[in-house]
Amino acid sequence: MYQKLVDMHVHTDNSPDGHHSAMFICEKAELMGVRALAFTDHCEVDVYLKENYDRMVRQSFFEISKAQSAFRGKVLVLRGIELAQGHYDKHLSQNILSAYDYDVVIGSVHALRHMTDFCHLDGYTEENVREYTLKYLRELYNMAKWGNFDIMAHMTYPFRYFYQKAGIDIRLSDYSEQVDEILEMLVKNDKALEVNTAGLRMEVGRLSPEIDTVRRFKQLGGKYITFGSDAHFAEDITAGIDEAYGAMLEAGFKEFTVFQKRTPILMPIE
Ligand SMILES: [Zn+2]
Ligand SMILES: [Zn+2]
Repeated sequence: MYQKLVDMHVHTDNSPDGHHSAMFICEKAELMGVRALAFTDHCEVDVYLKENYDRMVRQSFFEISKAQSAFRGKVLVLRGIELAQGHYDKHLSQNILSAYDYDVVIGSVHALRHMTDFCHLDGYTEENVREYTLKYLRELYNMAKWGNFDIMAHMTYPFRYFYQKAGIDIRLSDYSEQVDEILEMLVKNDKALEVNTAGLRMEVGRLSPEIDTVRRFKQLGGKYITFGSDAHFAEDITAGIDEAYGAMLEAGFKEFTVFQKRTPILMPIE
């Protein structure tokens, strides 16, 4: 059991798929002895107005700020956002990020261009999954190159749905050339890589990314690694943190990273 309970990726009910309020999650966090957590509600940039993210983002920031004040001295609440497909509309993303004073911005890709979220797609086959994977990894690279975020989230996001919906098991190790390009770009732009534990609570049953990719990131000069439960329920905050810290240590990281005012702060894993 590691000592420092810090979770950099938590959703409230201001995410369409979140279940609990920021206040309720903070109460739970205090009881669990969590030192810090970042609320990072969804903002899907490609469907921003169509799916009312403008309102959700505003409400999220307001409620997170309230929780931050209410729990001052008890739980450090960091104000964040999970900006997905941010590089599809760079101008809009910049406007969103300028409007709020975030501590941390998580960058993710949940959907390919002009397509729906991988979690809503069906009809996965061996052939189209390979094509989706190559396109997805290309978009991660494009996002890393764009760089208007702090942490790259759940690097194997679609794989859990390939597995769940079609029993197709994709591993990043089969895409090492593409993976290296992404990791090198993250290093070049001083970005953090997230070890996301949501997969441990799903059928796929794995960290995202797995330890070999975390190790490769370290070998290529990666400095910043973060832990994210990606909790959508209060009871899931810090879930899988021991597995994640264990993988980081085994991959050669002695410190994990917390972001405050979009500045990385290194803390020892112990
Ligand atoms: Zn996500
Ligand atoms: Zn998330």
